Amino acid sequence: MENSKEMRKWLDDMALPHPLVIAGPCSAETEDQVLKIAHNLKDTDVNYYRAGIWKPRTRPGNFEGVGAIGLKWLQKVKDETGLKTATEVANRAHVDLALEHDVDLLWIGARSTVSPFIVQEIADALEGTDKIVLIKNPVNPDLSLWLGAVERLYSADIKNLGVIHRGFSTYEKTKYRNIPEWQLAIELQSKFPDLPIINDPSHITGKRDMIFDVSQTALDLNFDGLMIETHYDPDNAWSDAAQQVTPQRLVQIMNDLRIRKETDEEAEYNSKLNNLRAQIDVIDNQLIDTLGKRMKVSDGIGKLKKQRNVAVLQSNRWNAILGKMILEGESQGLSEEFVLRMFKAIHQESINHQEKIINK
Ligand code: PEP
Ligand code: MN
Repeated sequence: MENSKEMRKWLDDMALPHPLVIAGPCSAETEDQVLKIAHNLKDTDVNYYRAGIWKPRTRPGNFEGVGAIGLKWLQKVKDETGLKTATEVANRAHVDLALEHDVDLLWIGARSTVSPFIVQEIADALEGTDKIVLIKNPVNPDLSLWLGAVERLYSADIKNLGVIHRGFSTYEKTKYRNIPEWQLAIELQSKFPDLPIINDPSHITGKRDMIFDVSQTALDLNFDGLMIETHYDPDNAWSDAAQQVTPQRLVQIMNDLRIRKETDEEAEYNSKLNNLRAQIDVIDNQLIDTLGKRMKVSDGIGKLKKQRNVAVLQSNRWNAILGKMILEGESQGLSEEFVLRMFKAIHQESINHQEKIINK
């Protein structure tokens, strides 16, 4: 499959002065709740009103969505506010019902993108549609699964396409609910520069106070839009309470975000520069993260050495590491001098950590 401008026509035709905004509650709960939030969002930058009708819950027994009745509420939203509507579909029956109720944008959730069978079923059910279809990244950090889903839909003659980056699950404890792994989104953008990419900071962070920063990073990386879960009473939401923001807070976030527009040559230069800088920022964060992890491992070695009463510095081991890293560095275009200086600094920090443990 080739990159195609056709995929982003739906977005370009909207000629938005700001990134695309999809907002609304994680789940449709009651008719009043759906309509009240929609009215709150009516005269804002919001372009599509989202509400989950069928909720894919990892464990059974949680609220699993109101089902088809909620689609009637979304129709009312459209009639009363003029907002276009969006919901998640996870099988053929969902697609048929959503189309019957004239939902404008359908998205495939992270738990569905992992399954080529389900993606194919949805693609077949949607064949030839002119609705907008967005594909969330799979739960696991697997770029080909994500691309494969795009290809399945594109081959089913669905041309109004896009993807949603909602982060990836990990066994590690991090400050995120789903770690962004920005480099995967960047790789996808470089393969398909015209495929619209929307960021979902709500599911990445899992916490409402981190949403602004993640949204800003996404815009700096040239994302085309944001999907932000919004509820008038977030704390009492029936799902994803910790990550939803109020409509007022959403308006504030949209006001405060630095939004870059590519109008002339200078803007394009700035945009490219910002994009590269954002990539550097992502990598720098990963460097610090990795170094922190290395020192924790080092602490573990310090504890072992203390039990055994062994000296901190073991120079044969150190020389072996250095030799290997100089070769690795060479294959990455790093000079021997740089690798030596960097590893001396890392080694010194490691020794400091271990000495602290041994002298405790
Ligand atoms: C959602 O958007 O409410 C949702 C369930 O998201 P995800 O598929 O990203 O978990
Ligand atoms: Mn949610």
